[in-house]
Amino acid sequence: MTVESTAELTIDLGALVANYRLLQRRAKPARAGAGIKANAYGLGAQEAAPALFKAGCREFFVAILSEAIALRPVVPEADIYVLSGPMGGDEAEFVQHRVTPVLNSPQQIDLWSRWCTANGAAPAALHIDTGMSRLGLAPAELDRLIADPALLKAFSIPLVMSHLASADEPGSAQNAQQLARLKGALDRVLPLLPSRPAISFANSSGIFLGRDYAFDLVRPGAALYGLNPTPAAPNPMRQVVGLKARILQVRHIDAHQTVGYGAAHRSTRATSLATLGLGYADGVFRALSHVGAAFVGGIRAPFVGRVSMDLITIDVGHIPPHLAEPGAWVEILGEHQSADDLAAAAGTIGYEVLTALGPRYQRRYIPAG
Ligand SMILES: *Cc1c(COP(=O)(O)O)cnc(C)c1O
Repeated sequence: MTVESTAELTIDLGALVANYRLLQRRAKPARAGAGIKANAYGLGAQEAAPALFKAGCREFFVAILSEAIALRPVVPEADIYVLSGPMGGDEAEFVQHRVTPVLNSPQQIDLWSRWCTANGAAPAALHIDTGMSRLGLAPAELDRLIADPALLKAFSIPLVMSHLASADEPGSAQNAQQLARLKGALDRVLPLLPSRPAISFANSSGIFLGRDYAFDLVRPGAALYGLNPTPAAPNPMRQVVGLKARILQVRHIDAHQTVGYGAAHRSTRATSLATLGLGYADGVFRALSHVGAAFVGGIRAPFVGRVSMDLITIDVGHIPPHLAEPGAWVEILGEHQSADDLAAAAGTIGYEVLTALGPRYQRRYIPAG
């Protein structure tokens, strides 16, 4: 059986590793872990994690326990942290797979402490909220814990972490404010612990705020996968993702002809349209209707009309016909258009573009040399 794909996603593991090394150098002397949640931001955790491990990465952060369990066989020697922590009832699963929960609340500390008292100590990380107001111990909760540190006696704490809210805006006063709050919290928490844990604060953008933010372990995600951690400056990262789609059909339309659902586009001149074999079900957002673009032989070809579930029409009237034939490949993500670029056109962020990349693509991994 031969199945010819209509759209292909290429993931360059060499670029991923190069990005890891760059972040590692920037963060020194801190170690660099990897945020690998949501299937390595859509790119494939099963492939990305071993490549990162080979490059020296020993700490992996996922969002939920099932992601950690799926990751365990491909990085058997790594530390895997689950950011959402235990839900209650799943403690034994954490221990069985040697996965470390991040404890975010008094309830989770209580759960873990009780389970460890009954079943034996297993390590857990502690998350202190310094301004994100999402996960982590709020200031009053931290005060109560410090007043009653017995709760922390039942297990070891190899890692204390916090998370930056505005690291991609280096001018934001919130960065220094969160740093000061973390230092204040550490001054009070560390003396209560039997051994000094690793401290982790910076995500991708946080690494570029300077050494003060790196502590012992940084947790980049986005920058590993090629997104720009310094949005106000040129992207220092290499592109990891390429996405191309095939032209299924080419047609000539007259002036005043309508295109696509809702007749939402009406041509103002005679032109040629090419229909591509991918759509919003593949993660090319419907919000890109009328505003997105593909690149045909390096020439920009704007989306025309609405993005459909499986199809997109582009205007190729200005493109040499031999480049825009049925069967030809056109670039959606690549050297002419990054995930950040496509996100800007759709009114979102590159993170959402990557994590939305659909399951139908033929995926091709370029090995890391
Ligand atoms: C997602 C996440 C990261 C990685 O963030 P990036 O901005 O993608 O580098 C790090 N830490 C936590 C807690 C996260 O949720």
